[in-house]
Amino acid sequence: MEYTCDHCEHPTASIHPVTLYKTEGEQDELLCDECYAEWLESTKG
Ligand SMILES: [Zn+2]
Repeated sequence: MEYTCDHCEHPTASIHPVTLYKTEGEQDELLCDECYAEWLESTKG
């Protein structure tokens, strides 16, 4: 099964659901390994 990353729009075999908190409100996104790693880093501040 293949997914598409909501961030970089590349196809990926493993996907990570995350909730982004923006000024407009919460937004659910599916991220590939790379984008998920970046998102994890960004949450650490
Ligand atoms: Zn991605």
